[in-house]
Amino acid sequence: SRQLTLASRPHGAPTDENFALKTLELPPLKNGEVLLRTIYLSLDPYMRGRMSDAKSYADPVNVGDVMVGATVCQVQESKNDSFSEGEWVLAYTGWQDYAISNGEGLMQLGKEPANPSYALGIMGMPGFTAYMGLLDIGAPKAGETVVVAAATGPVGATVGQIAKIKGCRVVGVAGGSEKCKHAVEVLGFDACIDHKADNFAQQLEQACDNGIDVYYENVGGKVFDAVLPLLNTSARVPVCGLVSQYNATSLPEGPDRLGMLMGQILSKRIKMQGFIIFDDYGHRYDEFATAMQQWLQDGKIQYREHMVEGIENTITAFNDMISGKNFGKTVVKINSP
Ligand code: NDP
Repeated sequence: SRQLTLASRPHGAPTDENFALKTLELPPLKNGEVLLRTIYLSLDPYMRGRMSDAKSYADPVNVGDVMVGATVCQVQESKNDSFSEGEWVLAYTGWQDYAISNGEGLMQLGKEPANPSYALGIMGMPGFTAYMGLLDIGAPKAGETVVVAAATGPVGATVGQIAKIKGCRVVGVAGGSEKCKHAVEVLGFDACIDHKADNFAQQLEQACDNGIDVYYENVGGKVFDAVLPLLNTSARVPVCGLVSQYNATSLPEGPDRLGMLMGQILSKRIKMQGFIIFDDYGHRYDEFATAMQQWLQDGKIQYREHMVEGIENTITAFNDMISGKNFGKTVVKINSP
C-alpha cells in the first residue's frame, strides 16, 4: 500500500518536503479484521493544525506517522462477521490507499450508496458543522441578515443555504467572481461579495444595509475586520474556523484591534462562541442527518465537490483548499470503486 506520512512540521504553507510517500507490504488479515480500500479521502482545513505541534484541542500527528483524515472506503476483504466484501464504510484511515481495521469506529454506508463521497461533506463533518454552528449558536430568526465567508466551501455553502431555508437574508463572502456568481445563482444567496476586491469592506456594508445579525466565522482576518463595525446589537458570532491564519508564522500587521473588539462586544452585547463539532455536538448527529437528507431530497440544498485524482496530488490539493483554489468540497479520489 502507499501512504503519505508527515516527515517534518511545516513552517507556513506545507511543502512536499514535509511529507514522505511510502510504499509498504500489508500483513495478512487476522480474525476480526477487514482490509479497506480507500476510494475517497477528505481534505479539511483542521488538518493544518494536526501538522503543527502548537497546543490545540486535538493531539498533533507525530512526525513519521500517516496523516490523519476521514475516508470513504470499500471493504476489499473481511475476516469480521459484521462486514462483507464490497460494502462501503466511512472510516478515519488517513492519507493512504489501503488500511487494515478491526471494525471499530467504521460507519456502514451500505452496498450501493447513491453518493458515497457525500459522507465526507454535506452528510458528514462539514455539513454537520454548518448545521449546528448556525442553528445552535447563531440561532437565526427569519428576516435577519446572516453573513458567511468561504461561501462556496462545504461549510459556508451549507450555512448560507440553511439560513435561506430559515427565512434570513444571506450575504456570502468568497474569493473571485465565479464563486460569487455560484453563491447567488446556484446556492440562492441574496448577495455575495468578493473579498479580493479593493473596496471589499464598502461593498459588504452596502450589501448589509440592515447590519449583520449573525456572522458565521470561517476565516477571520480582513473579512472579520470588515464585519465587526456592521454587527448589530445582540449579534451572534459562531466561531467555527479562522482559515486565513492557519499558515501564519507571525501576528498580523497593523494596530492592535483587541480593545476595539472588546468594546464592541460589550456595547452591542455580542455573543461570540467557539465550538468543536464532534466534541460539542456528537450526540446530535442523527438530528442533523435526518434534516439534511430531507433537504437534499427536496432539492433545497445544492452541493458541489472539488474532486482531485491520485494520492500523489494530495499535498497540492490541500494547499489549494487553504488558499482558495478549490471550488467546493475538496475530495481526493484515491482508488476507483
Ligand atoms: P473550504 O473548502 O471552504 O476551504 C477554505 C476556504 O477558505 C478557501 O476555499 C477560501 O475560499 C477561504 N479562504 C482562505 N483564505 C482566506 C482569506 N484569507 N480570506 C477569506 N477567505 C479565505 O473549507 P471548509 O468548508 O471545509 O471549512 C470552513 C471553515 O470551517 C474552516 O475555517 C474550518 O477550519 C472550519 N471548520 C471548523 C469545524 C469545527 O468543528 N469548529 C469543523 C469543520 C470545519 P474563497 O476562495 O472563497 O476565499
